Amino acid sequence: MKISLNTQIFIAAVLGVAYGFLLTLYPKTSFFDGSIYALSIASGIFIGLLKMLLVPLIFSSIVVGVSNLQAGGQFGRVWKITLICCFTTTTLALILGIACTHIFGVGKGMDISLFKDAMSQHQTPDTLTPGSFLTNFIQNTLINPFKAFSDGNVLAVVVFAFFVGAALVKGGEHFQSIRKLLQQFFNMMMMLVGWVMKLAPIGIFALLAKLIATENLSILNSLLEFSLVVTGTTIFHGAVVLPLLLWIFGKMDPITFFKGTRSALITAFATSSSSATLPLSMQCAKDNLGVRPQTAGFVIPIGSQMNMDGTALYEAAAALFIANLIGLDLSVGQQIIVCLTAMIASLGAPGIPSAGMVTMIMVLQSVGLPAEAIAILLPIDRILDTVRTVVNVQGDMMISVVVDRYTKESDELLDVKS
Ligand code: ASP
Repeated sequence: MKISLNTQIFIAAVLGVAYGFLLTLYPKTSFFDGSIYALSIASGIFIGLLKMLLVPLIFSSIVVGVSNLQAGGQFGRVWKITLICCFTTTTLALILGIACTHIFGVGKGMDISLFKDAMSQHQTPDTLTPGSFLTNFIQNTLINPFKAFSDGNVLAVVVFAFFVGAALVKGGEHFQSIRKLLQQFFNMMMMLVGWVMKLAPIGIFALLAKLIATENLSILNSLLEFSLVVTGTTIFHGAVVLPLLLWIFGKMDPITFFKGTRSALITAFATSSSSATLPLSMQCAKDNLGVRPQTAGFVIPIGSQMNMDGTALYEAAAALFIANLIGLDLSVGQQIIVCLTAMIASLGAPGIPSAGMVTMIMVLQSVGLPAEAIAILLPIDRILDTVRTVVNVQGDMMISVVVDRYTKESDELLDVKS
């Protein structure tokens, strides 16, 4: 009997967690050290291969996506629906994050002196205001594409790919051969993704076992309430809000969705990286959810950079938690500023582990909270990152289904008219 890749990944995840717990029983032994060494190599190979494919995949997929969409007259529509979906789901996530932190009053009445040490040892990074963030963003995005490729600067690659895609359409017949070449290049990249995915069960086993064995899970206790509220709210967003929207607007039932995307969601959990999961998210959306390749190829790479519901929710909730912790009551206006900054921060956060922690500084500073306070969150961040990345990736695939449905309908209308 042949076990599907989806099932293999699921089994690997369960075994990885179990092995990780087993390792925690034998700390400082040669069994522990040897295992961690082997797990690091296995997970390093898997993540390395995904990273190797990421930039050429994103570039070719967006160029091909933009040129196909523009040629078919669908570009404006796809773009608009994608933006509306991103904005709506992120706003809902922010509202949920703020509401739940209020309802449970997390951080209120906690003894801040517990964290004094951590905070005093933390170096405050340079001030990160929305203004400086924007200038940085522009400076890092409009750059030499070869530098962007070699540095793995995904956002800059996305922007360059947009321009190339648009030029291919404008040039029409003239650039026919380049277009064909890039289309074939993209198909080839997807074939490589398929090969790398064969290693996914081993990679995921190794990543999860290492995470459980090396992260200090007991630290979650000191911040138990916050961890539970944030994780619970993020899961609620992913298990109730997004599926409901998908059902209403994408006309897809949650079971079909979760079955089809399980391997991408587990990979997101294990890697804590939307970017590393991107090849798999695209594959799941196309092969299992029936999203047309041109939609998946356009929406998912963009979403993996700009649509991060889990990150936005986390940042807003964490800012409120810190405010509560230091006994500061944020006004409604300040909470709106927190939400807006958290939205910008989630747009700018790259899809890599703990990226949200860096942009978190901007959210804290937007309402005058001390940036050092992230020292309190750092020890638990790697663990909380797992769940928020799952929801980030889930949002991208969900949006691709909704966008595909609406653009398919208008395609069909065009067909009927012509
Ligand atoms: N790890 C997240 C992602 O890749 C970003 C974050 O740190 O919130 O989607």
